[in-house]
Amino acid sequence: MRQPLIAGNWKMNNTRAGAESLIQGVIEGSTGMTKTEIAVCVPFVFLELGQRLLSGTPIRLGAQNVSTEASGAYTGEISAAMLREFGCRYVICGHSERRQYYGETDAVVAKKLAMVVSSGMTPILCVGETLEQREQGVTETVIARQIDAIIEANGIDSIGQIEIAYEPVWAIGTGKTATPEQAQEVHAFIRRRIAAHGGAIAEKMRILYGGSVKPSNAADLLAMPDIDGGLIGGASLVAEEFLAICRAG
Ligand code: 13P
Repeated sequence: MRQPLIAGNWKMNNTRAGAESLIQGVIEGSTGMTKTEIAVCVPFVFLELGQRLLSGTPIRLGAQNVSTEASGAYTGEISAAMLREFGCRYVICGHSERRQYYGETDAVVAKKLAMVVSSGMTPILCVGETLEQREQGVTETVIARQIDAIIEANGIDSIGQIEIAYEPVWAIGTGKTATPEQAQEVHAFIRRRIAAHGGAIAEKMRILYGGSVKPSNAADLLAMPDIDGGLIGGASLVAEEFLAICRAG
């Protein structure tokens, strides 16, 4: 039985005061919710605040990106060791916004995953197709390429140390959610692909869905056999909405 993970991806949102009240709201509203693991992935500048507020609670802290390098002359970058020191358990890697706006390739994403794992944290690897790719019928080809690139670079055993999030690009921030059946189909494909590489971990690992998850559609998505949680963007910025999704898990 895979415990569901609901992780909020705040993206580049919030003020310090807003971050504080949102984290407090999530802490207070989630008391006693033991069935689901909950995480909040905040902008770097709110990590210290998150670490302080979340210490002693079951809610995990996460970051949204990490450097490919360990340390040194990389102006503007943040290392995995720094994230670890600030209490991060999770690090989102290869989000489609990073692939699209910052040119992150599969090779870069593979290096980031390795950095995160070697620093004792768990990466959340994002994969997903664009609308154009879905319409061309190459969804599975795209996802297979994204997964295979990681396995080729880091080895099949590395897959056992990560979480995967399927986020169809056309569903992110658009209000257009994949139907539970559409998402289930891709999640099952990801699991089969990993199993085909000899990954005994395939049945045990969590595959999250992300893309316009809301309180109104969360339960149906999370009821699918291969959907083990959610990566929540917009709805993670409102405590009541995020908590309603956590409850649906
Ligand atoms: P939305 O929930 O805002 O569509 O964002 C999804 C996402 O990109 C989470 O990483």
